[in-house]
Amino acid sequence: MKSNPYFNQLPDNYLFTEISARVRIFREQHPEAQLLNFGIGDVTQPLVPAVTDAMHAAVDDLTHRNSFRGYGPEDGYSFLKQAVIQNDYLPLGIQLHENEVFISDGAGSDLGNLSELFTADNRVAILNPAYPAYLDTCVMAGRAGTLLENQWSRIICLDCTADNNFIPELPAGQADIIYLCFPNNPTGTTLTRSQLQMWVDYALTHHSIIIFDGAYEAYISDKDVPHSIYEIPGAKEVAIEIRSYSKSAGFTGVRCGYTIVPEATGLRSMWMRRQCTKYNGTSYVAQRAAEATYTPLAKQQLAQQINYYKQGALLLRNGLEQLGYNAYGGINSPYVWVKTDTDSWTFFNRLLQQCQVVCTPGVGFGSEGDGYVRFSAFAGYDQCQLALQQIKQL
Ligand code: PLP
Repeated sequence: MKSNPYFNQLPDNYLFTEISARVRIFREQHPEAQLLNFGIGDVTQPLVPAVTDAMHAAVDDLTHRNSFRGYGPEDGYSFLKQAVIQNDYLPLGIQLHENEVFISDGAGSDLGNLSELFTADNRVAILNPAYPAYLDTCVMAGRAGTLLENQWSRIICLDCTADNNFIPELPAGQADIIYLCFPNNPTGTTLTRSQLQMWVDYALTHHSIIIFDGAYEAYISDKDVPHSIYEIPGAKEVAIEIRSYSKSAGFTGVRCGYTIVPEATGLRSMWMRRQCTKYNGTSYVAQRAAEATYTPLAKQQLAQQINYYKQGALLLRNGLEQLGYNAYGGINSPYVWVKTDTDSWTFFNRLLQQCQVVCTPGVGFGSEGDGYVRFSAFAGYDQCQLALQQIKQL
């Protein structure tokens, strides 16, 4: 047996595992400390009643012989695909066929699994900093090359820095696969329509594919920020869009999302084939729960929940700015990205030890993230208020 050698190239520790280890040591040394956790981007508010009612009803369906469901379609039930098309796309003027919508157990799996559609010699462009899964799954697939002085030889880094307002520039050469994530995790920034059009045009010219991660779409409030990449002319030929109910409806534990693979990309039937072979479908209860997020009552309840998180994000951003920090994001995003006066881990440790506040060191998202930390407003509004008071002590 020969194991996959590319796994050995991955950095030893997954970012959030390292954070947990440091927090655990701190707790052992200071058992009395009340930690405020702004680290991992997990939601803290419970599911809304309109969703749990639908889940209870779905469980009841499973208890009766005539409404029981076993294996569902690998690509999801029609009821949820239709709800996605009618609610997330038609209002934006985007027409999709049901067979272009693939229901999943969340964005994480699809982000990694999509990698199987492409050969190892494709050149991949990834934002720096970025959600770690894009790079890690490329490394696992043997597509990243070798790591020399913090740089993977075959990865094209799209640097997002304060100098370019965290808006990446187009690659100078050929990028075959481009991972974009807007609203962005970790920087909290967004692209306008015209900025996104440049990427679609690049992909059309260079025959590239854009994997557009829209996990934070629900947090968009600015009018000129597109909700879907398919609002951009030409995007159906060059873009796959990934969405999740994790951050829009608190499904991080329930697990449901979807991926749009338009026919025009030429990849739809491959993805269907892949899913039919390797995925036996998302749970019926989770799909009924996701369908319920589109009822008028659930929309109202979810809007309140998202607003609650967004108010916390804004409070953090404004509060940190008042304390003299340069803070970004937090407006169309639950994340606030903060410039630090030291490297990320030193600031992380200082915040933990002196303020009992846990954040995420920016360097965990890529080399350009060093000198920054990320705060996740999913901690909740009250926690944001408390954290600001404690950070004042620094
Ligand atoms: N994409 C981004 C940018 C994320 O931040 C996350 C989770 O935090 C995911 C994807 C994964 O989400 P899911 O819970 O749907 O797997």
